[in-house]
Amino acid sequence: MINDSSELYGRQISLSELSPELKQLPNISIRPAINKTGRLSCNRCGSKLKTRDAQLPNKHFYCYVCIQMQRMDTLNPLVTLPEPNLFPPNEQPLSWQGKLTNLQEKCATQVVEIFKKRQRHLLWAVTGAGKTEMLFKGIAYALSHGLRIGIASPRVDVCIELFPRIQAAFDQTSIVLLHGKSTQSYKYCQITICTTHQLLRFYHAFDVLVIDEVDVFPFSGNPMLHFAV
Ligand SMILES: [Zn+2]
Repeated sequence: MINDSSELYGRQISLSELSPELKQLPNISIRPAINKTGRLSCNRCGSKLKTRDAQLPNKHFYCYVCIQMQRMDTLNPLVTLPEPNLFPPNEQPLSWQGKLTNLQEKCATQVVEIFKKRQRHLLWAVTGAGKTEMLFKGIAYALSHGLRIGIASPRVDVCIELFPRIQAAFDQTSIVLLHGKSTQSYKYCQITICTTHQLLRFYHAFDVLVIDEVDVFPFSGNPMLHFAV
């Protein structure tokens, strides 16, 4: 049950998950979870649905594609609150003391430029090349400008391994780790580290989104996860 309105900032959640008080919020924005105009489709994961497979009693429908993340159906709309970027100002968020090589430094500066321009960019680097450290400058730039950051990977183990490293590098910043097996409950934070599946529960939340390991299963070739991004 969601009790705090901050848990709705930049997220898309089924109305059924909200406490009775939150359901009364005046500025909450509501849209159908399942789109019934034209071809049946899910508004959360973007999947086109087969009417016969999506059917519930009494002419209701549900999404069988993203069902593992709480059921989307025509009985409950999706609710969201616009992302307000309510983060405490911090001009020097980077607590990492390490050093980059000249080549890494060049990449790191490029990442900052890309974040500034809000461009899409793919940073190709092999494991052990210090890819995460090359992102630190860019992340620090985004944090100091009050931006909200998402770091996602299709792999749970990558998320679990990233979390303490990001925490150590930005020790003043609020950070939450989300994946299917995590026991940590959701909290509104400036950095979210999560599996690409968890992105389905966000809606226009992140100013900067980093996807790690884009070329691995299950992300590669999964249209639902591409839609989530
Ligand atoms: Zn769906």
